Amino acid sequence: MTVILGGGIAGLSAAYYAVNDAKIASVVLLEASNRLGGWIRSKSSPSGAIFEEGPRTVRIVGPAGKNTLNLIDNLQLKDKLIHIRSSHSAVRNRLIYSDGTLHLLPTSLKGIFKTTSLLDRPLINCLWTDLKAAKVSKDDESVYSFVERRLGQDVADNLISPMICGICAGDAREISVNFLMKSLFEAEQKHGSIVKGLVVNNLAKIFSKKEKANTNDKNIKNCTDSSVSLVSKAQKENWVMWGLQDGLEQLPRALADNVKNRGVKIQTRKKCEKLTFKSGRVELVVNGDVQECERVISSLYAKDLAELLQEQHPVLSAELRAIPTVTVGVVNLEFPGNVLPMQAFGFLVPPKENLPLLGVIFDSSVFSRESSTVLTVMMGGAWFEKHFGLNPTEEQLLTTAIDRTKSILRIEEEPVAHNVAILKNCIPQYVVGHYQRVQRIHDYILTRRIPLRLCGSSYQGVGLNDVILSAKQAVCDIVE
Ligand SMILES: Cc1cc2nc3c(=O)[nH]c(=O)nc-3n(C[C@H](O)[C@H](O)[C@H](O)COP(=O)(O)OP(=O)(O)OC[C@H]3O[C@@H](n4cnc5c(N)ncnc54)[C@H](O)[C@@H]3O)c2cc1C
Repeated sequence: MTVILGGGIAGLSAAYYAVNDAKIASVVLLEASNRLGGWIRSKSSPSGAIFEEGPRTVRIVGPAGKNTLNLIDNLQLKDKLIHIRSSHSAVRNRLIYSDGTLHLLPTSLKGIFKTTSLLDRPLINCLWTDLKAAKVSKDDESVYSFVERRLGQDVADNLISPMICGICAGDAREISVNFLMKSLFEAEQKHGSIVKGLVVNNLAKIFSKKEKANTNDKNIKNCTDSSVSLVSKAQKENWVMWGLQDGLEQLPRALADNVKNRGVKIQTRKKCEKLTFKSGRVELVVNGDVQECERVISSLYAKDLAELLQEQHPVLSAELRAIPTVTVGVVNLEFPGNVLPMQAFGFLVPPKENLPLLGVIFDSSVFSRESSTVLTVMMGGAWFEKHFGLNPTEEQLLTTAIDRTKSILRIEEEPVAHNVAILKNCIPQYVVGHYQRVQRIHDYILTRRIPLRLCGSSYQGVGLNDVILSAKQAVCDIVE
């Protein structure tokens, strides 16, 4: 028997790939809470607007993006897909709130030659700053210090730091550049500057174009016929991201229905409390009872898994515990009519502003909803405790979100509906040294031949595409 720990998107995807791809006969999924889906949770306002507490859009990029589209196709969710093209205002218009003003980032190539209000210089100037900066050999460093060294402090403060808030609610001064901006970091390490590295890489790509085209063909042929049509439709029509009608929670629901019908036993309110690996079997303590299985796929957050392994594998446990998480306060607001100053994806707030807000997503703009304005206010992250203390009330978060959002967007009206959620420890932080730590974790498990594989957002990426692909990889590895 194979046991999967956790019933979020990673655990459910692992169950899907276990029965669909690897044809594993006996699969049990244990979920500690009373519901499936983990952080993916979609609610409805009285008017029918969707309030997403967790993710809302999925990007279409690289093999991981295509893999998720194939999954959507295979789960017959194609008809529920809301695709967003590159020409959509929510893709083109991205704002940063700094010094009391909303600044629009350049929307075209021409824009990078003009002085931006955010930097007091054209974006193109950063290329000269990079070419002039000396190379410094390093294994890793923070995103902030890398960008400050190579592109200037103004770019680190006003562009990159808010971007890191948007990606992982984290502090750019702590996040690893070798993990989050690997190609830019390697460009400096191999070629002396970002610009030189990108030029060399692009030339190499042009020369290997034919080879790449062949590989893509091969990858596409590996998919089912229907999946080819969705992936190629997305490419042909320039889709950049997608969401689902009635909310993204449709995805874990469809996955759960699919795997249940194919024999996976899903058990909720079953918390795994301890794992012990014995010769040829794994002993699990679940709600105080002892169970046995052959192998385990864990989709738990690294620090939760660390608790289960503490007694038998304290070294592994310490490595897992060293992957920190941050808490995010999420407030969804609905206003009557269109109250937005412009259609855009939303705005991000640089940490130097010292505000409790990380950013605000303009959901109604992204999903072209016209009857009302729906916004999601993200707060706290790496600075949650600083702004809200240890145990803030939902009321405190709601008041902060409404006051700040109305003031920044100059909204006169009051919201007609809202939803508040405090998502404790919801986003893992890939701090400096993350890449090497994950390598050590995998090596520890492999060299000791422990029948345990890891997936989920703690290791290879927090976006849904990466999390789903990590589940596919974990299944593939455990079968091998
Ligand atoms: C506010 C927010 C917004 C986001 N927005 C986006 C977005 O727009 N696009 C995007 O691509 N990604 C986004 N993400 C990231 C993405 O949603 C997450 O990375 C992903 O949902 C994590 O899934 P998971 O299965 O790894 O973890 P989880 O969803 O946390 O699932 C883990 C499950 O394990 C269970 N569990 C824990 N301990 C035990 C135990 N001991 N035994 C059994 N079960 C246990 C938990 O109850 C939980 O259900 C966002 C995340 C957040 C928090």
